[in-house]
Amino acid sequence: MTSEILHTTLKENFGFEKFRPNQETIINTILSGQDTLAIMPTGGGKSICFQLPALILPGITIVISPLIALMKDQVDSLKTNGISACFINSSQSSQEQKYYIDNLKTNHFKLVYIAPESLSYLDMAFNELNISLIAIDEAHCISSWGHDFRPAYTNLGYLKSRFPSTPILALTATADKATRTDISKQLNLQNPKTFIASFDRANLSLEVRPALDRVKQIIDFIENKPNESGIIYCLSRKTTEELAEKLKKNGIEAKAYHAGLDNETRAKTQDQFINDDCQVVCATIAFGMGIDKSNVRWVIHYNLPKNIEGYYQEIGRAGRDGLPAETVLFESYADVIQLQKFASEGLNSDIQLAKLDRMKQYADAVSCRRKILLSYFGELVKENCGNCDICKNPPTFFDGTILAQKALSAIVRLKESEPLAVIVDFLRGSRNAYIYEKNYQELKTYGIGADVSWYDWNQYLIQLINLGYCEIAFHQHNKILLTPFAKKVLFEGEKVKLTTVVKKVIDKNEAKEA
Ligand code: ADP
Ligand code: ZN
Repeated sequence: MTSEILHTTLKENFGFEKFRPNQETIINTILSGQDTLAIMPTGGGKSICFQLPALILPGITIVISPLIALMKDQVDSLKTNGISACFINSSQSSQEQKYYIDNLKTNHFKLVYIAPESLSYLDMAFNELNISLIAIDEAHCISSWGHDFRPAYTNLGYLKSRFPSTPILALTATADKATRTDISKQLNLQNPKTFIASFDRANLSLEVRPALDRVKQIIDFIENKPNESGIIYCLSRKTTEELAEKLKKNGIEAKAYHAGLDNETRAKTQDQFINDDCQVVCATIAFGMGIDKSNVRWVIHYNLPKNIEGYYQEIGRAGRDGLPAETVLFESYADVIQLQKFASEGLNSDIQLAKLDRMKQYADAVSCRRKILLSYFGELVKENCGNCDICKNPPTFFDGTILAQKALSAIVRLKESEPLAVIVDFLRGSRNAYIYEKNYQELKTYGIGADVSWYDWNQYLIQLINLGYCEIAFHQHNKILLTPFAKKVLFEGEKVKLTTVVKKVIDKNEAKEA
């Protein structure tokens, strides 16, 4: 497809002058018939990636989405642009559903939005439909490794075998590498082309504070910004309600939002927040998916989030207008314990625990926090961001190049097959049963870091992970793998700065407060 045709379609049907990063290449890939995985941050412009091909392709585009509440809006806005679209979900009568299906058979609609639970209605008509593209929105919902698992998504894998020659476009804003692989695998994508837009949101400031006297800190914070709306994420429903009460007592317009409240109350709070009639929402993670409010000026995490994907998506709800916005995360030892308990009792506990560990390491970081977040999503950033608490108030560093070389070569010697603790044992020349069982004492570099304490090695390795030189393979027993950037240190003389970390003192008051 020529670039000119795509640009004309973009302008005439959607009113946009140019494509956002990746949109055009994604569209071209789909039009060439290839399966595609598109990872773009919220607000990055995912919809155009299937709406525009839908106009060009001869048949129907099926859009699978979990957001039933938003389908009507999406379809209405397509209609406003003169594009024929409909939706099918459980909010409709069977007559309505039949009406839409009949009209799809006669190619009356270019796009149909459908909830995964409702796909069975369409299933019966599949033979009579001319389907050109299947778009799966919020594709991370298929992965029980992610934070937003929807059981109905797990059935979507059959679509590829049912329509082997129809391209599938999977879209998501949140996927670490493990989740990405899981999405492709479960959807049976054939050799998918993957596009990852930059996740950088430079306008969000990043800050982590110890969770001491949180309520007072929050009140002070909000009092400094009387007209700015924000979201406070809490771990439990009870905390959202208690916190909202405390804020109200201090003259702040705050409301609680969680999945235990009835639909009406939730919809009302959401509307008031969107229309600036309620300044602060104290919410569980139930709040936010699909909420389109561009001027959220700050997001606070009252509790440590479960993992970095969730955290990044939640802070991403601030500053969608591109103007500066603040984010603050409170780190509490009590939260870590509680989250560890939840994780170890839930599905895929080893993966969830490892992800929580990563979240904790982020909170304990001593290097630019944005670099850590972006490296988690596979982006290596050279410059420090200047807009996080570490950049603004940096710890002192020493030349840790030799230490980094030792650690990274140990990972090479161990064939990238061992978790952090074994690497530290290996570096320190520990004589434990596991080392001997594997005969690791025979390998070159065994014991080259015997002069450094266990605790320090642990910290240095975490710093190397945070710097993007190595990574934890959650889905493979937490083995430490090298990233392509490790070779810069091993072979190209790249200097690495490390810092000695002072172990965090846990304040007794914190446990009491939590
Ligand atoms: P996502 O689904 O990735 O969160 P959307 O598809 O809803 O994002 O797009 C976010 C906003 O950006 C929408 O208001 C959309 O109209 C707008 N948008 C998308 N693509 C473009 C573009 N090429 N130029 C200008 N605005 C765009
Ligand atoms: Zn920074």
